[in-house]
Amino acid sequence: MHIHINGLKDDRFSRPLQLIANLFFEETTISLEDGPQNPDITIDFQLKVANNVIVKAILQDKEAYFEKELPEAASEKEQFKVIKNSVSHAYLSVLQEYTGMVQKWGILTGVRPTKLLHKFLQSGLSKAEAHAKLKAEYLITDEKIQLMQEIVDRQLAVVPDLYDLRKEVSIYIGIPFCPTKCAYCTFPAYAINGRQGSVDSFLGGLHHEMRKIGEWLKENNINITTVYYGGGTPTSITAEEMDMLYEEMVTSFQNVEKIREITVEAGRPDTITPEKLEVLKKWNIDRISVNPQSYTQETLKAIGRHHTVDETIEKFHLARNLGMNNINMDLIIGLPGEGVAEFQHSLDETEKLMPESLTIHTLSFKRASEMTRNKQKYKVASRDEIVEMMNLGEKWTREHHYFPYYLYRQKNILGNLENVGYSLPNQESIYNIMIMEEQQTIIGLGCGAASKFIDYDGKITHFANPKEPKAYNDSFKEYTDKKLAILTEIFNQDRALTR
Ligand code: SF4
Repeated sequence: MHIHINGLKDDRFSRPLQLIANLFFEETTISLEDGPQNPDITIDFQLKVANNVIVKAILQDKEAYFEKELPEAASEKEQFKVIKNSVSHAYLSVLQEYTGMVQKWGILTGVRPTKLLHKFLQSGLSKAEAHAKLKAEYLITDEKIQLMQEIVDRQLAVVPDLYDLRKEVSIYIGIPFCPTKCAYCTFPAYAINGRQGSVDSFLGGLHHEMRKIGEWLKENNINITTVYYGGGTPTSITAEEMDMLYEEMVTSFQNVEKIREITVEAGRPDTITPEKLEVLKKWNIDRISVNPQSYTQETLKAIGRHHTVDETIEKFHLARNLGMNNINMDLIIGLPGEGVAEFQHSLDETEKLMPESLTIHTLSFKRASEMTRNKQKYKVASRDEIVEMMNLGEKWTREHHYFPYYLYRQKNILGNLENVGYSLPNQESIYNIMIMEEQQTIIGLGCGAASKFIDYDGKITHFANPKEPKAYNDSFKEYTDKKLAILTEIFNQDRALTR
């Protein structure tokens, strides 16, 4: 689908218009430039900017209009944001009219819808005012606003000091190895077999990072809210290596007893052994993730996960019996060959286990994954079926007393839906709330680990460690020093302002 836009020449409109077009059509292209085009549709814009922004969008016999006051004191960037949102508003409205489709998330195409609601509430708006704004300015439907509010309420119940946690940090530790590589995976994950040399050097680098960052946190008296081991699969290293890593954490990190939650992803059941579970218990780590993704054996085979459904169930019971009392499980909607019946089967199996939390993802075709490169090879469900499965998941979780506590969206997500984390009351993952709501700095250590440094006024600085173990092993010292420099700058700035 090629959409030609008349009346908007600023290139900064291209991306938001493209993202919104993707909600309606497959494989869209957008052109703003005049010249020889052969568009499928043309949308004419009339845009006037003075004290107000006035936008009109015309698509054949459909028209949409939006007007919004331009805040005088705002910076040029903030003013452009108002203009961009106004254009998006008229554009989405006219496309909704034209196609008859309603986009439940309105003009929001970003990853973190609930962050916007937190922002409004933090700025002093009442719930009713915030909801009215989400509806009028962002065109979000009542159903999604209600979901956002439910999640925000849950988050504030679990972390009452959420808006005051900028003085602490959370830590993400990335272990880039897995038994084999899954077809849909875009994480830094390398098949572990035959790589012991690389694993040894990697762990050497990781210990260094933990020690150095830990020293800095101690010197600056900064507590840690949560620690999360992800990857890859952090349980793909040996029990002994895990033991040494957690010992490093306990020795190097500040006030370990005050850390509110430590999670270790044990995503692949084929990596879970009684020895490793004993190590987790030894270091008081009781939140793990065991991820079935699906309970249909053919699906696991198709996506390259070399473990069986029975193994997932067996390892879940093993973990439970060995004292793991907060287990998360992930399911994915829209895996190749799966429809409503397979998803219902996965929910039926989940019912037999009742993990403390359940995250329901919707498969997204991320650019780098094997599945995207071979899209024709994998048969996936239609948009309508995806919506049906999502609704099924929502109904099932409510009936089984799970509540949504975080959500995020992805680009290219099937059916323009969302990923939702559900949990039984008081079993929510605090780290997941931290990563979604961006209220505090998260320091990433290890391979491919992304750090997000958040300064006193919420500005985010991203910084990523190398994804490749070899590149990491060659440069971890330099990356650690860079992170220490950013931390020093941000926390000194904060202190100067609170003095
Ligand atoms: S287990 Fe997870 S991290 Fe590892 S290859 Fe599969 S999807 Fe990627």
